[in-house]
Amino acid sequence: MTETNNARKNEQEPCRYCGGNCPNDEDHACDGYLGDIDSIYATGTELFEFLYAKCREDHDLLAMIVDEYLVSLSDNKLIELEDFLTNNFGDD
Ligand SMILES: [Zn+2]
Repeated sequence: MTETNNARKNEQEPCRYCGGNCPNDEDHACDGYLGDIDSIYATGTELFEFLYAKCREDHDLLAMIVDEYLVSLSDNKLIELEDFLTNNFGDD
């Protein structure tokens, strides 16, 4: 069985716990969805907090992430970042 990628407008995919309408109807959502027992719905914020905590402990990890981030940037984004750094931390 393959999961179809039907992107109905403004409607989220079926609940990954029960297959029901939980993401669209939190008032009647199942316990799995509400508690997110398997962290299926972990948000970017949670990811950030996790990574941030890890990076504070492990500076090698931080260096790796910064490195990968810089490599992933386009030329325009690099120029933007350079401007940002110069404006905020530059000497002149
Ligand atoms: Zn559900």
